[in-house]
Amino acid sequence: MFIELEKDGIIGFGEASPNARYDETPEKVEAVFAGLNPEIFDSVNTPEEVEQALDALNIDVHCARFAIEMAWLDWWAKSQGQPLWKLWGAETPVGPVTSFTIGIDTVENMVLKIKEADQYPVYKVKLGTDHDHEIIKAIRSVTDKPIRVDANEGWKTVEQAVEEIDFLNGMDIELIEQPMPSSQFNDMVVLKSKATVPLAADESFIGDEDLEELSEGFHVINIKLMKIASLVKAKRVLDNAHALGLKVMIGCMIESSLANAAGALLGLWADYVDLDGHVLISNDPFTGLTINGKGQIELSHEPGFGISKR
Ligand code: MG
Repeated sequence: MFIELEKDGIIGFGEASPNARYDETPEKVEAVFAGLNPEIFDSVNTPEEVEQALDALNIDVHCARFAIEMAWLDWWAKSQGQPLWKLWGAETPVGPVTSFTIGIDTVENMVLKIKEADQYPVYKVKLGTDHDHEIIKAIRSVTDKPIRVDANEGWKTVEQAVEEIDFLNGMDIELIEQPMPSSQFNDMVVLKSKATVPLAADESFIGDEDLEELSEGFHVINIKLMKIASLVKAKRVLDNAHALGLKVMIGCMIESSLANAAGALLGLWADYVDLDGHVLISNDPFTGLTINGKGQIELSHEPGFGISKR
């Protein structure tokens, strides 16, 4: 869902991607957009001020709050004729290589998808079937590239998780996302002490969790802008996570290249990026975000987020 903020003939674009896992719906996003009073921006002049102005509204639909802030930031940078990455002090618009996701399918189709996605240097494989080992072995037989695994809260006991992680370590897996349900944090703490592959918090990290506590259960946090609800806050959290020795991954929901450009901006300071949402859809209404020849996510030199309508 998209929102535009216009002032002085300049339009800022924002995007929300409501996710059922977090009890968000298009109807809820629409209600937030419809209820927005543009006058709140009259006294807003900096990213910190837009964060405060939106915090004061207590918008509980995180993706909608994010979209509004994004649109203002896009407008703000465009009003100065500058790309936001430059205004935020990044030296280059080129970020880390992004992983390309291989969704759950038959073993044959998953192998086929790997072969078809030959241009990507890193894969993320979704697991959670009763034949996960077969999938990974088949994929490993056709590629030597780094593979990340998303267990999507799939393993229910520490014993089961340790067994799976040891198998994946033997298959040279780079990282495992959300091995156990987010409700089982105490198990995650035990698991981290036994894990032979780095563990990343996705469903276990929304945005307000205590990072020091989280670092007891995970090596990496996956920041998704639709979860954390603010790009300005996300940058601060990223810096705090790094200060505690946590690595940071920037992930996405199913998003167009508009929202993924905001993820890409944050990704300029991240250790891992998983920003393939816009290449997994067939009807991206926007253009301006690139995955370059090395598989790195790359922002444009145009003002704002550098994204325009097709
Ligand atoms: Mg995930």
